Amino acid sequence: MPAALEPLPTTLDYAALDAEALKERILRRKAELNAVILGHNYQRIEIQEVSDYLGDSLGLSQEAAATDADVIVFCGVHFMAETAKVLSPEKTVLMPDLRAGCPMADFVTGEALRRLKEQHPDAAVVAYVNSTAEVKALSDICCTSSNAVEVVESIPRDRPIIFVPDRNLARYVEERTGRDNIIAWDGYCYVHDDLVLDELARARAAHPEARVVVHPEARKDLLDEADFVTSTSGMVRLAEEHDALIIGTERGLVDRLKQRFPHKTLIPLSGAAICGNMKMNTLAKLAWCLDHEEHRVELDEEVRAGAERALRAMLELSGGWRSATEEEEALELAGVRPRGCGCA
Ligand code: SF4
Repeated sequence: MPAALEPLPTTLDYAALDAEALKERILRRKAELNAVILGHNYQRIEIQEVSDYLGDSLGLSQEAAATDADVIVFCGVHFMAETAKVLSPEKTVLMPDLRAGCPMADFVTGEALRRLKEQHPDAAVVAYVNSTAEVKALSDICCTSSNAVEVVESIPRDRPIIFVPDRNLARYVEERTGRDNIIAWDGYCYVHDDLVLDELARARAAHPEARVVVHPEARKDLLDEADFVTSTSGMVRLAEEHDALIIGTERGLVDRLKQRFPHKTLIPLSGAAICGNMKMNTLAKLAWCLDHEEHRVELDEEVRAGAERALRAMLELSGGWRSATEEEEALELAGVRPRGCGCA
């Protein structure tokens, strides 16, 4: 292996290097640390290019737990790195920028959820994976945007459900299950909640041949207009199958799909659908993070174990811990993740 490069003091020193020099440093240091780089679907393209795995947060954390890497670098937002730590407590988990949080996850704190549970002592708590480890630990079971309906249906119909933190996903599940006893937290993802019908009408007028796919974190009026409502992993599958799609989710996924299928018509429903929090990670910060082995994500063991229990409850229900079937393995080999989730 070539001689190690000296770490530079600050991220600004790294930002002064060009992209090729940064990528070289990142790949060298990754090998030295026996690290694996996880890139969420919404990351910048240059981060995706140096990532070992791309996908949604839960799928990535499961991939990382299955590797023999000593270090996981999570290029995503804070709750995602927490999930990696929950599933791989013995590994060092790093984030390039600790300030990269998820505003939707931050809508609900552990303290606020405890208060709501006191008001509804009989309710089961379902936490979308876009939530902090503390909130997961206070929940009965987690869900993704792919399995939220299945998770809610696994709870007796007469038992109330506190659903956190996404009100849009809660309403979608309510409609799909026909339940009237879901107490939805009033949180939302600003990227998906801001998608509006006017933009959809413009995109449709420009591309009348395209089918429309929207993420369930979007508002109901938009979901009602969509041909498909599915998670980011479902969108990847649809892009395989269709030649023209208008895609209602964060731009990062659309950019990645356009790179992968350059001859298809893949249009973002909104050019402004960009998660600024996800984009806080840069190549310069990633290189700094690997050189300095910072920022470390640590969890109190009680919180970690509680969050793992809620995640396992979901994974056992949706078959997440079982081995992949032959069909799923074939899809994985084709680059399609069959058992993934949403932004989360
Ligand atoms: S896209 Fe939405 S849910 Fe995903 S990290 Fe950004 S704010 Fe959170």
